[in-house]
Amino acid sequence: MAIVLPCSMTPSEFAAAGREVEMPRPHCPNCSARMSFWGFYSRPLRIGDEIRLLVHRARCSSCRRTHALIPDFVVPGRLDGIEVIGPGIEQMANEATTLAVAQRAGVPYTTARGWRRRFVSRAELLASGFLAATVALGDLVPRLPAGVVEIALCAIKAVGSASRRRLGAVGDNWRIANLVVGGHLLSTNTNPPWICG
Ligand SMILES: [Zn+2]
Repeated sequence: MAIVLPCSMTPSEFAAAGREVEMPRPHCPNCSARMSFWGFYSRPLRIGDEIRLLVHRARCSSCRRTHALIPDFVVPGRLDGIEVIGPGIEQMANEATTLAVAQRAGVPYTTARGWRRRFVSRAELLASGFLAATVALGDLVPRLPAGVVEIALCAIKAVGSASRRRLGAVGDNWRIANLVVGGHLLSTNTNPPWICG
């Protein structure tokens, strides 16, 4: 299982830091025990160019399970970084063609189409969760546009600005959104682990 953690570095900074990256030592998602660091693995990340990241693993000695500790710019199961996927989804919602978005992002057409389809299928769930998180953080629900995809995008902006204001979160709206849903922005999981207090 992947645990998404806040990270103040850019993907390139993270890649350059290698083993020197400092990640917080998290608690086990199953039993809440403090976990120990348990080595690294290398994974590619495409942000236009492809770079390689060294990702920490942590292990729970009670559950005997290891978890990947991934920075908030990585979407589990996806090669492309959130800074590529997020704006691509926004551009397609703003009537850019899938082909134009794919070309601009430097990804195959089918990849961009996959982002759009998955986001559309999850938009209602994401919208309700991000709006609930916005309210839990003490902000008001913004004036909502028409269309469930547009509402989900509006909710991502709202939770981003609420997190920066109320929690001092760093990073852009998409990184914060990826963090809030534990990396499940585009997953097939129908029950994302909302962190909304
Ligand atoms: Zn455990």
